[in-house]
Amino acid sequence: MPEFIFISQAEGSIHINSDFNFSIFLSEFCDDTPISYGVKLAGISWGIDIFKINKNFKNKFQEYISNSSNGISPYAKKFYYESIRPLAEPEYVIIAFIKAHDQIPKNYISLVKDLLSLSLKEYNSSKTNDFRKCLENALRKLDPLLSSSVDIYLNYDLYDSYGQGKIGESDRNKRKCRFCGKTIEDGVKFSNKAHIIPEAFGNKKFICNEECDNCNHFFGENIETHLIKYFDFFRVFSQTKGKEGPLKIHFDNNNILSNRNIVNIPTDESSSNNMIYIVNKTASKTDSIDINNLSIPFKIKNIVEQNIYKSIIKMGINFLPPQYLSYFSETIKWLLGQKQSTELPLGFRRNNFSPSSPEPSLGLFIRSNDNFNLPFLIVSFHFYFTTFFLIAPFCSQDRRTFITPQEIEDTKNILKPILDDNYDIISLNSLNPIEYIINLNLKHTPKKQ
Ligand SMILES: [Zn+2]
Repeated sequence: MPEFIFISQAEGSIHINSDFNFSIFLSEFCDDTPISYGVKLAGISWGIDIFKINKNFKNKFQEYISNSSNGISPYAKKFYYESIRPLAEPEYVIIAFIKAHDQIPKNYISLVKDLLSLSLKEYNSSKTNDFRKCLENALRKLDPLLSSSVDIYLNYDLYDSYGQGKIGESDRNKRKCRFCGKTIEDGVKFSNKAHIIPEAFGNKKFICNEECDNCNHFFGENIETHLIKYFDFFRVFSQTKGKEGPLKIHFDNNNILSNRNIVNIPTDESSSNNMIYIVNKTASKTDSIDINNLSIPFKIKNIVEQNIYKSIIKMGINFLPPQYLSYFSETIKWLLGQKQSTELPLGFRRNNFSPSSPEPSLGLFIRSNDNFNLPFLIVSFHFYFTTFFLIAPFCSQDRRTFITPQEIEDTKNILKPILDDNYDIISLNSLNPIEYIINLNLKHTPKKQ
């Protein structure tokens, strides 16, 4: 269960238990994209998200916690009321969200509170706007042996998609497409919901307002299909639902994979949710299967790797805070096919075979200084076992092209704490359609007596 710690700019901290509905909080109280900082303290990695709370926060928050149906205990309600009341205008709240760690020891929370209080004390007394520096100083004080992951947030602001809703201008008449630059006056429409992470990965609510129907159609037809096909096998295993419910995917060698019962195998209710079905259209009933050693290939044809690259960078442009958009005009031309290249930056692919979350997520690493050895924008896309970390090409803020291993050496060192050891350096330059084959090897393990 996640833990939340609220710290008001004025003083003190409020510890919110996991009964708090975080996504409601985000949509109701926050105007802006949170800024995330990666932290490794006492050997445990987690993240702090800084939210700018909107004006109505105090009233709305009190209203929210007094609503009897939200499951907050009367004791906790009293506690929240008393902690919120002394907040001065304008209110500012820092929320530490300890991500993806349900194994965090109880006493660790007090260490986190110390860290945040220390950072905040310096933040308030120095009147600086640089929370990252204060956090770094506090980390040094608390944990002199702290890990190299500090380097990431010394050089980058981290934005992640967790809990995000709609990005960009809400008034349709004022919208300008991030890709073609056109508005309603120029004749484009904004009628379709532009999903930032394609709907095929189960994303319903992470939407970009600033993508016109033409561009949405173009990316959907030409680019994103390659990313979706690349992950088809894992989409079934992650129990992702498509637009029309459970998935049933036909691979190019007559094997069908589905997370719905397509062959009428009776299952009991409790197990049916986690079943995967494999059907081969050409196999006959008399074919014998060696159940002790079964290898099933799934073939996917016509994947253009550069389109996987484009899909991920395109999501990054959708999610990018607007002040940075002008740095990416050449990148956008490339996404739209108006600029061609097969000399693109190298990237990283991490494989984590014990996925912490099957949910797709998107992350932006935006360089916060003039260290030109590092790329300005790295976009990460995570789904199931795989996370890509890709450099946005053609950014006006870059002096390097990152097309050789030497050129990405510094980037690799910075990302190392996130990459662990399970990563490959990859090139997604190719424009030639290729064929992927995933072999599913099944081994029968007899039960121990
Ligand atoms: Zn457009």
